[in-house]
Amino acid sequence: MKNSAAVSDSTTLNQKDFMSIMNSIFSPLIVARPIILPQGQKDFELVFFNEAFSRTVSKTILKFHYFHEFKALLSTEVPWNDMADKAINKIPCEPVTYFSDLSNGWFRVQMKGMDGKYIVVNIENITKEREHSKKLLDTAYIDILTGLYNRNKFLDDIADLTAQAQFNGTKLGLLLIDIDNMKIINDYNGHTAGDEVLKKSAEILNRFSKNIIKAYRFGGDEFLLAIKNCSSMDSITNVCDTVFESFNSEQIKFSGGIAVYPDDSEEPEDLLRFTDIAMRRAKKDGKNRITNFKPEMQRVFIQKLNMQAKMSAALLNSDFYLVYQPQFDIKTGDLRGFEALMRWHDKELGDIGPAIFIPLAEETGMILEIGDWVLNTAFCTLKNWQQKYSFKGIMSINISPMQLKQPNFIENIRNLLIKYNLNPDAVEIEITEGIMIENMNEAIEKLNSLKNIGLSISLDDFGTGYSSLSYLQVLPLNTLKIDKSFITGITEKNGIQANITNSIITMVTKMGLQTIAEGVEKNEQLQILKEFNCHIVQGFLRGKPMLEQNCAAYLGGKKSALISLETEKS
Ligand code: C2E
Ligand code: CA
Ligand code: CA
Repeated sequence: MKNSAAVSDSTTLNQKDFMSIMNSIFSPLIVARPIILPQGQKDFELVFFNEAFSRTVSKTILKFHYFHEFKALLSTEVPWNDMADKAINKIPCEPVTYFSDLSNGWFRVQMKGMDGKYIVVNIENITKEREHSKKLLDTAYIDILTGLYNRNKFLDDIADLTAQAQFNGTKLGLLLIDIDNMKIINDYNGHTAGDEVLKKSAEILNRFSKNIIKAYRFGGDEFLLAIKNCSSMDSITNVCDTVFESFNSEQIKFSGGIAVYPDDSEEPEDLLRFTDIAMRRAKKDGKNRITNFKPEMQRVFIQKLNMQAKMSAALLNSDFYLVYQPQFDIKTGDLRGFEALMRWHDKELGDIGPAIFIPLAEETGMILEIGDWVLNTAFCTLKNWQQKYSFKGIMSINISPMQLKQPNFIENIRNLLIKYNLNPDAVEIEITEGIMIENMNEAIEKLNSLKNIGLSISLDDFGTGYSSLSYLQVLPLNTLKIDKSFITGITEKNGIQANITNSIITMVTKMGLQTIAEGVEKNEQLQILKEFNCHIVQGFLRGKPMLEQNCAAYLGGKKSALISLETEKS
């Protein structure tokens, strides 16, 4: 026995047996041998093929005898003669796959040399195998909830989409859709309701022809539409408007951002970023709208990034500092305490006011780090004053809605009280009604915890924004700060503003709240507030925001250290 495949003489195959074995093989098989054609070229000539070959590969092949004829009939992509050359010379050669229009399927060609005389060519139909692996790939590409393609699929498709647009000389519109108020839907109606909105959105998107729109679920409540073959910006806008109307007629509101290839950029990464920038602008402009990306938005975006970097550096370099504005009892003139206010001095930009950088810090999330720094610094100053000057007053600290939303906010405050060994009743937290926007119940719960710890809660800027008297009933407040815009008007002759202010003070005093008048600049204002029984005054007239060393000198008994419109006059 030469090898394990050898058989004994008694079972030697005759030609007929051999043929029926070959014909019972499912894969198409050819045996060929090298020849020199009459014109002198080297080629390979068919000496045998099995039934599977004539069945699968096409009967037409019967008319052909040489490999060079395979090229035209089967596939130009397979280097038939090269592979055969390698096989006959025993040089390893990789299988090659091709798609056959003739039999509408995928095939894999492999060749093997036999004794340097013949080659065996195996042509295997791999269409099913390919379909199976494509299906597997598709599941990795499909979002389970909505059945739409997912973000990964888009990242795979985008190069083809832009290449196609380039080839056809058309535009490709990308529309990023972000469902409005998804958090509220989830919080108030439950996650199942949220899922229904997402499914409905997918259903709407599926109504559009796949030739025009390719839709992807991008994650969370975001969808991305690739709008193909657009001849102009108008046609992109028309498609987007139709999508918007379809959503609106199903009571689903979204904010969308559009970026266009090649107008806005030819780079997929840029285009995606631009849709996001435009979508955020749509949200900012009041939601439920679609906004086109404009280069100026990118400038604003870059400026914001720069500002964010600058703010991070400012924290490290101590370019932020706090000033403290005194608050006085209107009747007795006694010092009630101070409000800590942030200041930023940048070496290049100069002084930047909190009205500019606080909203930016809120937008970029930097407010969390900055807010921590404010809390630490104000607590530290308070402890210092208590120890050095037996300061008995209150330190008021402004808190952003985003800070209060942090799951560990209460814990943080507790830790800071321990760290600085402070009595909680010396600390007041100033909030604005902005905390009520997203999750009112959670905000109320947190404020109650703060109040239970012993801190005071003050509602800032009352009289601006949506100020509603109903907030006063639901929020666990100690103090109401009446905004400067109210105070400015109380001296007007018609008395309307004065009447409103008087009523507010009377009402909230009855509710047990203390009232602070903000932005008092004139003695006349102060006298009216006194008549209205307002408790506390905070304003330039009696005291401006001051550096820590000024406050320390004042607390140490140096009355002239106080900076105010009154002291400046004298
Ligand atoms: P706010 O909390 O309403 O602070 C009062 C603002 O009114 C301060 O402006 C203060 O300097 C100013 N002010 C006080 N009295 C008078 C007056 O008689 N006349 C005039 N014209 N203005 C007066 P500032 O310091 O520029 O702060 C602006 C806003 O920035 C603050 O308004 C607050 O919303 C925010 N802010 C300041 N510091 C912080 C902070 O540490 N954290 C947070 N989250 N926000 C802060
Ligand atoms: Ca304040
Ligand atoms: Ca205020």
